[in-house]
Parts: sequence; C-alpha cells; structure tokens
Amino acid sequence: MGKGRFPLHTQIFIGLLVGAVAGIIATATVGTDNDQLKFFADNIARPVGQVFLRLIFMVVVPLLFAALVLGVAEIGDARRVGRIGLRSLAMTIVLSSLAVAVGLLLFNSFEPGRGISAERRADLMASIGQQEDAAKKIEATKEAKSVADSLLEVVSQNPVQDATRALEGGLLPLMFFALMFGLAMTAVPKEQSAPFRAFLEALFAITLKIIDFAMRVAPVAVAALMFFAITKLGIEAIVELGKYVFIVLAGLAFHQFVIYAAVLRLVARRNPWKFFSQIREIMMTAFATSSSNATLPTALRVAQEDAKLPKDISSFVLTVGATANQNGTALFEGITVLFLAQVFGVQLSFEQQLGVMGLAIVAGIGTAGVPGGAWPMIAIILMKFNVPPEAIGLVLGVDRVLDMSRTVLNVTGDVTIAACVTEMERRSAAKAAARA
Ligand code: ASP
Repeated sequence: MGKGRFPLHTQIFIGLLVGAVAGIIATATVGTDNDQLKFFADNIARPVGQVFLRLIFMVVVPLLFAALVLGVAEIGDARRVGRIGLRSLAMTIVLSSLAVAVGLLLFNSFEPGRGISAERRADLMASIGQQEDAAKKIEATKEAKSVADSLLEVVSQNPVQDATRALEGGLLPLMFFALMFGLAMTAVPKEQSAPFRAFLEALFAITLKIIDFAMRVAPVAVAALMFFAITKLGIEAIVELGKYVFIVLAGLAFHQFVIYAAVLRLVARRNPWKFFSQIREIMMTAFATSSSNATLPTALRVAQEDAKLPKDISSFVLTVGATANQNGTALFEGITVLFLAQVFGVQLSFEQQLGVMGLAIVAGIGTAGVPGGAWPMIAIILMKFNVPPEAIGLVLGVDRVLDMSRTVLNVTGDVTIAACVTEMERRSAAKAAARA
C-alpha cells in the first residue's frame, strides 16, 4: 500500500475503497451465502480488523481518565478566573447541547442505516455472536434494576473494578470518578497536585501515541473491516454510508451558518458573515490540520489581530476551548453512534438516544483536539449501548473529510464564545459605569 507515499488519511481512504470494491466483487460473484467467502470474512478479515480496534480499546481507560481529569481541572481553574470562566462554561454547555440536538433531529428525519434489510442484519449479528451474547446479558441485568439503583450505580464505589468493566457498563461510574478526581484536584494547593497533573499529562500523551500506532495499521484494517461489512451487509451499506456522510455535513453546516450566526448576531452583536470572513484563516487552518490543538496558535493571533477580540478573554477562552469545547465533535459523535446502532439493528428508544446525546456532550470535553480524537470516545459509547465495536470499520474510511469539517466547527465555536463573552463583559462594564 505505497507506505509513506501518500498521507495516512489518503491511505485509509484507499483502504476503504479496496475493501469495498473487493467486498462488492466477492459478493457479486459468489453471493453472500458462499461458505468460503464466509470463512474468509470471519476468519481473516474480521481478526485483522480486530487487532486495530483492540489497539484503540486498550487505551480507552487510561485515556479517558487522564483526559477527563485534566479537562475538569482546566474548567475548575476557569472558575477561579471568575465571571469570564463561568460565562464561557455556560456558553459551552448551551452550544454543545444545541449541536447534539441538531444531530438528533437530523438523524431522526433521515434515519441513515434504515435501508439495511432484517436478514442482512441477522447475518451480521450471527457472525458477531459473541457480542450479541454479551449484549443480552447486559440487557438482562439492566431490566432487573430499579431506577434508584441504576442512578446510584453511577456513583462509583470501586473505580478499579469499574475500570476493569469499562467496556461492559463500568464507563459511567468511571467517568464519575474522573470528574470527582478532577474537581478535587483543583481544590488542593497547586504545589501538591502539580506532580500528579504532570503524570496525567504524560499518561495522556503516551496513550495518544498508542492511538497513533494503531492509525498506522488503519489502512489495512479499514480494508478488512469494510470487506467484512460489505460481505455481510451487501451494497446497501454503501448507500446508507453516503446518507450518513451527507447528514453529518448538513448538521455541521447548519450549526455553523444558522446557530453560530444567530448567536453571533444576538449575543455578540456582530455581523456573522463579516466575523466568519475575519476568522477565515482560523477556519482554513482547522480544516487543513484536523486538529484544534494545532490550530490554537493561529486562532490566538487571528482572534486578536483580525477579529479584534481582547487579549485576556480570547487567550483564556481559546486555550480552554481547544480541548474542552468541541461542538462539531459532539454533534458528530451523537450522529455516528445513532447511525451505527441503526445499521447494526440495535433499537434505541428516544430516552436512550437522549442518553447517547448526553454522553456525546461529556465525550466532547474528553475528546483530544487531535485528528481522529473522537474515535476512542465513540468506541466506548458504542459498547455502552451494545453496538458491536466492529461497526467503527464502516465509517472510519470516510472520517477524514468529516474530521476536517467538524474541527472547523470546534474552533469556530471557541472564537464565537470569545466574541460573546467579550460583548457580555462590555455590557456589564457599561452597566456598572452607568450605576456609578
Ligand atoms: N479532530 C478534532 C479536533 O481536533 C477532534 C475529533 O473530533 O476527532 O477538534
């Protein structure tokens, strides 16, 4: 696969094409019921894909813990910055919730993943029987519990045990523990918490490196997973995938040009089109790098020089926002989980869909601002809702363009919040002056 000759994302896309074309040719020539094809799909393609997925899963617990504790600690520090911190936090929550609501609405209007027939699904689930058994077990335990007990279980009593069960329902208590830990970390003196913070920063960087290793085998893994999915799901899978890409892009565009534009007009009192034009360099950098973190230096400069935002507010909001405010990612994670659940025939009730959306907002805080940062979070939300993790293979191949687009939203969201907070501060100052 021409190693090193093409950028990784192009290789992954080529992997997608190779897997899809091979899958289509194989199913078209021998049919989905062919025993040899089944054998190849189950015993070669699936394990190859699995190795890649396991590389991602193995870091989920340390990555999630480090990212959430550091994220909360940053927001906790923000509280000390006072009103600016609180205002940005409130805007983050409102904008992320709107983003996931847009995702939920669009998903339910178009229902990508619906077009796959029941027998195809049954076929696929039979090949991944192991997960199905696990899913049944989880379902059975869920039914037996009262609402009070389920809520109580979110409060971890043994985080180590939660960590070992993270892929089978221990996720929420583990997140709860991480949130408490992060809060407590901001409450002890800085000199005491500093070594642990440094440790977590190192842990975070190392786990991201493992994801990086995993991404190097992604081109082959995506080909294998795509082949597997097509031989099980048929060509319908590709049509549904097209719908999914369209819906994600439509959702992102709506959030950018309707929600952000309205918020800029109403709260920041700025002409949104002029504002977007002032920050176009930020948007282009985000699109090109697919990384909020890599865009931060450009964002800081352009926000001050071109959008004329005050230095103190913009440097604070943009720095915290680069990791903690990811509207585009929250929208994307929500739609992706719902789509894959639909493809794999896992019926989610409206309440469960709201649960996915809630997790997507929290996952937004925990998502690293790097290319593909969303994937470990998606993997873990999928397992929480009993969707087989193989599902990821179906969408990974088209992720690059979605990643570039959602990163634009993530960063535009930070600058939008900075503009809103600037205007709120200006009005508060004017009111205080009028009173004096
Ligand atoms: N690439 C995104 C960012 O840096 C994270 C993600 O959604 O994967 O903002």
